[in-house]
Amino acid sequence: MQVDCIIVGQGLCGTWLSYYLEKAGASFIVIDKSETLTASRAASGIINPVTGRRIVTTWMIDELMPHAWEAYNAYGQWLGISCIEQKAIADFFATPQMRLAFLERLEKDATYLSLPTDENDWQDWLQYDFGYGLITPAYLIDIRKLLDQRRSNLQQSGRLRVEQFEFEDIEESTKCIRYKDLQTNQIIFCDGAAGINNPFFPNLPFGLNKGEAMLVKIPGLPATHILKKGFNLVPWSDDTFWLGSTYLWEFDDPNPTEGFRQFATNWLKATIKLPFEILDHWAAVRPATLERKPFVGRHPNHPSIAIFNGMGTKGCSLAPFFAQQLTDHLLHGTPISPEASVQRFQRALNR
Ligand SMILES: Cc1cc2nc3c(=O)[nH]c(=O)nc-3n(C[C@H](O)[C@H](O)[C@H](O)COP(=O)(O)OP(=O)(O)OC[C@H]3O[C@@H](n4cnc5c(N)ncnc54)[C@H](O)[C@@H]3O)c2cc1C
Repeated sequence: MQVDCIIVGQGLCGTWLSYYLEKAGASFIVIDKSETLTASRAASGIINPVTGRRIVTTWMIDELMPHAWEAYNAYGQWLGISCIEQKAIADFFATPQMRLAFLERLEKDATYLSLPTDENDWQDWLQYDFGYGLITPAYLIDIRKLLDQRRSNLQQSGRLRVEQFEFEDIEESTKCIRYKDLQTNQIIFCDGAAGINNPFFPNLPFGLNKGEAMLVKIPGLPATHILKKGFNLVPWSDDTFWLGSTYLWEFDDPNPTEGFRQFATNWLKATIKLPFEILDHWAAVRPATLERKPFVGRHPNHPSIAIFNGMGTKGCSLAPFFAQQLTDHLLHGTPISPEASVQRFQRALNR
């Protein structure tokens, strides 16, 4: 069977790449081993335009936000689902200094920041002492819904193979590349954290990062905002909230831990003034990079091999933007942004 591309992985990266390739008329097969928990499936789905204690805007956000809004709406409409909504973040100040930092930032640049009309309006539900600010617009993506719907769409059209991709079954020739019964011009690896062991890209500076989260039922807590107070409490479905997360650069065990469960339970007891029930608890590894920039594009020495990885903590906003850029690059030769292009590691990949 001949296809233009093979996509390895159906997380956010593979899901977005398959969309733009299909829109551009390219033929492809997606190979995904169908793990129940991956970075994309563990994520809360927030696109937050600001970051850190100094509340600065995140990399490229003025381009990424409008692109994400349009792209998720278009993809959702095409699949017959709704998978993006605008949701303000209520950022509860943990200390008077954090309140001051927010107010100082607000004075300098109010693009994404504001104050609510009544800072006490969450007092019935939450314990907080120093008020809160609003971050808006922020977006909430229903990642699982998007991935599941695209998966069944790919399955119905016979373009999904649920299996482990085996590197030793690749046969490269000057004209094309073969993988088992498939002949193709291009294999694109969207393999997430597993990419650290990808033999084609052995020296890329991944900085994998573990995150744990819980699913909590809190009847009566308004689902109008994403609540941020150290942890994020993110409305997911009826009375159910995603609670997380941790950012562990060094870890031996990729599984959920008792330590996180205890810590998060204590946080809930200290913060939420309503009864709650823990429904689930999970962990996953973010495909983060040491420079906090993605890896996108063709391998410098194997042009029929490409990578789309390294989304770190920002897969929801980076994946659609760079999937479109990568599609244009693969089909029409347009450039990848130099800060994201994998060509910046040409020397490391030559080793
Ligand atoms: C706890 C947590 C919370 C997060 N919250 C957010 C958030 O709120 N907002 C945000 O923007 N980002 C968030 N992220 C980050 C985001 O989830 C990632 O950036 C993004 O999901 C990465 O997508 P991916 O497609 O690269 O990887 P993945 O989702 O890991 O997908 C890779 C896919 O490739 C498959 N695969 C790998 N190797 C093979 C192989 N050899 N053969 C077949 N299949 C293979 C895997 O099974 C998987 O399906 C969070 C991450 C975590 C862990």
